[in-house]
Amino acid sequence: MKNQELLLVPGPTPVVDEIYDALASETRGHTDPRFVEVFKRAIGNTKKLFRTDGEVYIVAGSGTLAMEMAIVNTVARGERLLVISHGYFGDRFTPLAKAFGIEVDVLQSEWGKRVDPALVEQKVKEKAYKAVTITHADTSTGVASDLDTLIPIIKASGALAVVDGVVATAAMDEDMSKAYGGHEAYRIDVVLTGSQKAIGIPPGLALVAFSKTALAARAAMETIPAYYTDIDNWRPIMGNPAMYFATPPVNLIYALDVALQIVLEEGMKAREARHVAFGKAVRAALGVYGMTALANEDVAAPTLSCLLYPEGVEDATFRASLASRGVIVAGALAHLAGKAFRIGHMGNTTAAMLEEGIVAIGEALQEQGLDVNTEQAVRVFSETIEAVQA
Ligand SMILES: *Cc1c(COP(=O)(O)O)cnc(C)c1O
Repeated sequence: MKNQELLLVPGPTPVVDEIYDALASETRGHTDPRFVEVFKRAIGNTKKLFRTDGEVYIVAGSGTLAMEMAIVNTVARGERLLVISHGYFGDRFTPLAKAFGIEVDVLQSEWGKRVDPALVEQKVKEKAYKAVTITHADTSTGVASDLDTLIPIIKASGALAVVDGVVATAAMDEDMSKAYGGHEAYRIDVVLTGSQKAIGIPPGLALVAFSKTALAARAAMETIPAYYTDIDNWRPIMGNPAMYFATPPVNLIYALDVALQIVLEEGMKAREARHVAFGKAVRAALGVYGMTALANEDVAAPTLSCLLYPEGVEDATFRASLASRGVIVAGALAHLAGKAFRIGHMGNTTAAMLEEGIVAIGEALQEQGLDVNTEQAVRVFSETIEAVQA
């Protein structure tokens, strides 16, 4: 199957033909040895993706389920969680953790900015937190977190470092074997993600990786207020997918298997560099149209951008005009609704797709009476990619 439209929302992202083909393979029983083989390879490749010596869990559900699995298996009722929030998705950890009786403190940045690491340092000195959450890239604001600064602060305090990698995993560095600040014990403890963002398969899979330290935290809790998301129930299946706990989404696992092969074949370093280049190039090109990214370039995410409209653009009309050209972008959230839009440039999106999107955006702006130069924008796009990759 071929895509009819160019899906440039910040997830789901464009699905490539090989992945559609995998999804359309014959559905087999979940204990069929032919399927079990594929699931095993996907589990192995997920471990490779995160470079973890701990465990990974792949279950049916969205990114939010992955967030829940991460929290409920590491933080007990009555324990403290610190949330570092750069927007709407960072904030989501608060009601989630509160639903399980966890005590939550939040450090919220102004939208488009980062939380000052000095505040994090101060906060973890004031109280003992069981875990601290970092949203690697916040999909509402296009702000990326600086793991190199935050992980050492969190780990030095004795807390677990939980990274929300939805919109980052498979595009940004989330190497769980990396010793941050050169300190052996300063490693990421949990990374969680969903299938439909930078991994590039349709929605429906939650993926969570736990370090040995995070697994020890689960082991220290006798029971947790969860059943489907209790990793103790899934451990036998992740060790041997011929076992049964709850039916895995067979066709999505086929898709994940192919998607991970695509990711590992490109190589994470190359993939990270490509995303950095795409992010900078998209923002530079849209700057030609008088659009400004909400996040300054030094904190901007490689995977998506939130752009403020220039004077004279009506949000709904602009996006409808763009959709009539087959290009789909997302509106902005909360107080930015109507004032900005969000564009994804991640996963298996290509430079050619982004160029097509940039031209269509220019045409939609022209339709609203703006005098913009699409050729110049495309030129800036390719020149920026070359400059970043040089
Ligand atoms: C999309 C997203 C989520 C939520 O994922 P769902 O699949 O919609 O449940 C969580 N965190 C971030 C950073 C996201 O981009």
